[in-house]
Amino acid sequence: MKTNIYLDYNATCPIRPSVIDAVSIAMAEVGNPSSVHQAGRNAKAVMEEGRTKVAALVGCRPRDVAFCSGGTEANNTVLQGTGAASVIISAVEHDSVLSAVKDLDVPVFKVRTDANGMVDKGHLEELLKTAPQPALVSIMMANNEMGAIQDIPQLVELAKGFGARFHTDAVQAAGKLPLDMKALGVDYLTLSSHKIGGPQGMGAIVLAPTAPLKALVVGGGQELARRSGTENVAGVAGFGVAAYEALVGLSSAKAVSELRNRLEQGIRAVSNEAIILAEGADRLPNTSCIAMPGVKGETQVMHFDLAGICISSGSACSSGKVKVSHVLSAMGYSNEVAESSIRISMGYGTTPSDVDAFVAAWAKLYERTSKKA
Ligand code: PLP
Repeated sequence: MKTNIYLDYNATCPIRPSVIDAVSIAMAEVGNPSSVHQAGRNAKAVMEEGRTKVAALVGCRPRDVAFCSGGTEANNTVLQGTGAASVIISAVEHDSVLSAVKDLDVPVFKVRTDANGMVDKGHLEELLKTAPQPALVSIMMANNEMGAIQDIPQLVELAKGFGARFHTDAVQAAGKLPLDMKALGVDYLTLSSHKIGGPQGMGAIVLAPTAPLKALVVGGGQELARRSGTENVAGVAGFGVAAYEALVGLSSAKAVSELRNRLEQGIRAVSNEAIILAEGADRLPNTSCIAMPGVKGETQVMHFDLAGICISSGSACSSGKVKVSHVLSAMGYSNEVAESSIRISMGYGTTPSDVDAFVAAWAKLYERTSKKA
């Protein structure tokens, strides 16, 4: 039995060897980037090199990147810190967005999505007409569970017509799709280092030059007073190298999507009962969300785990809690389908034989469970 076929890149991406090197080198150095002496200046230089690389990934100025502890903190900071008179989010956002708006003291509205998880533009327009302005519209660029990619520039244009500001959670899009702050037209974009092969516990808030932001974490005024606390210098060094590798790796998106297609075709050849969620949407090249009706997602995860294959059921962030995915519910799927879905997500280390092993294990489980029924 082959172990360690890792098909859970959307949960966390295997750290890249070049990142480990950069982190180790940075960790061996002493120095607080706020100190004025030589050691401090050295640490600051490491930080600024990382910042330049992260800025290059999203096409912004280095000074527009504020580092923080990850995608969750970045999303919380933006959702709570723009001074908006109301907030509009989509029904398929990550939990870090859904939870961040729970206790806001301004009205919060939720945009519907269609059966492919795509935002309903007509509904967004209706909400923009009634929401107190300036509103903050927060719509993720690509979904972590089923991979649907939203048409951000078009949504930004609509929102800007009403004087709203726009945030996109690009945590899952980074390294899988080209990102350009100006072409997207967004005011805020959030990133997480560990989704692109960098260290866990690192993220960034990217701001358009004039976008207002009140810090969530206050203190010494680091990161141009947008996020206080002594910076994670080694983490930034690793994040920077991961951002560089992610940018270079965009050229392999087609190869990854071919692996994803091979997997889905393999499943289809076994059974036409399988449901591929968001199949009709423009999707991330690496993500496939598949329901095997009648077999619980957790049962499937255990089966694959025994076969040495790592995948997840629904969103990894909500695994452990037995709850139906809000994303699949928003897409109109029944609890039965939502509960029987798994997410397979690939990346730079995935090979055709990994995909074939997955399909073989899927077929085995399908045959066993369909015979029982
Ligand atoms: N946003 C999306 C779309 C995600 O998929 C995740 C993590 O799964 C996050 C935000 C949170 O990022 P982090 O794990 O860095 O807190």
